[in-house]
Amino acid sequence: MPYDVVITGGRVIDPGRDVDALLDVAVQDGKIAKVAAGIDPSGAARNIDASDRIVVPGLIDVHAHIFEHGVGNGLDPDLAGVRSGVTTLVDGGSAGSANYEGFHHHIIGTAKTRVLANIHIANTGLAQSPEARDAGDVDVDATIAMAHRYPGEIIGVKIRACGPAVASMGLDYIKAAVTAARESGVRLMVHIGDPQWNVDPTITARLLPLLQADDLVTHLYTGAPGKVLDANRNVLPELVDARARGVGFDPAHGRWNISFEVAKRMMAQGILPDSISTDITKPGRLSIVKSMTHVMSKFLALGFSLNDVIKMSTYVPAGFIYMQDELGTLAEGTTADIAILSIAHGKWTYEDADGASLAGDTALEPVLAFKGGEQHSVDYGPFPWGWLPNRA
Ligand SMILES: [Zn+2]
Repeated sequence: MPYDVVITGGRVIDPGRDVDALLDVAVQDGKIAKVAAGIDPSGAARNIDASDRIVVPGLIDVHAHIFEHGVGNGLDPDLAGVRSGVTTLVDGGSAGSANYEGFHHHIIGTAKTRVLANIHIANTGLAQSPEARDAGDVDVDATIAMAHRYPGEIIGVKIRACGPAVASMGLDYIKAAVTAARESGVRLMVHIGDPQWNVDPTITARLLPLLQADDLVTHLYTGAPGKVLDANRNVLPELVDARARGVGFDPAHGRWNISFEVAKRMMAQGILPDSISTDITKPGRLSIVKSMTHVMSKFLALGFSLNDVIKMSTYVPAGFIYMQDELGTLAEGTTADIAILSIAHGKWTYEDADGASLAGDTALEPVLAFKGGEQHSVDYGPFPWGWLPNRA
């Protein structure tokens, strides 16, 4: 038998190819060798029984903070990554031009998880808070130079439309990041919502027209000042226009920028996220953003289907990192990044940034991950009892 691993008996959900069926998955030399019913596991080096589990492409979290030991909020990348079923992570701008080399060598160079990055327009990224007070904290040329040094690894320029730099520089702060992104040939990733520094909330309507196709807005469902609902709680027309131009939207959960009430209001107006991500940090993992599967479970509770939640956590984000041919899919011949998850039915309860709660009956928990065919067991879990959410 030629296979290194055969995963048998699982429900394979591969939304990029419209697959949802009981199938076996064979892995050989780090690639998906075969996906079919009745693959004979005898003779394979390893047989994983995935009965009663779901088998999906390795999860892709396009917004995490994993500059551990580099900035204060940085989580161990593998705790956010392979040990949570997430095989690919994109850092959401923890490092800027002055400290990105540390991220490259000490995080990307050592993590078992595949790691890409956005570079923050503020010189030292999130090493200080607030990260930028005025133009002295921003070096556009140095940002461009660093992005050019690591093409394919730095895939975006990050800015947060919050904090004192918005007050001191106004839209020029955003425009500095736009320039850095355009001249680097990478996307702009914009954080909206400011629960801490009470930014002028009109900044969001003023910055959205600067964005172009492939740029990404993070915190779609924030309830903080700068949210994308107007005073009558209708979606900003600038957001509708940006979507029509091909700007991407992600709800990046985080500690402060998810409101179930805003989410429901926006969903009722047809504004759905493209992808799902965590915005996980070390303190966030100790509060309300436990893991990728926890965030996915919240979106199940909000009413998204299982297939849509998987798609928003695999196939769509693979497109955001320009790797849809290799990742976010279980197509034969692609990189064997696979997550095995279990579905737990129960009476679960979830919390948002405002302390509001949401009931759900279906929770996901990670069981096992493969990255490039290499097996990784998951961590104990972020709750005192493991992975499952709070019980109602
Ligand atoms: Zn973030």
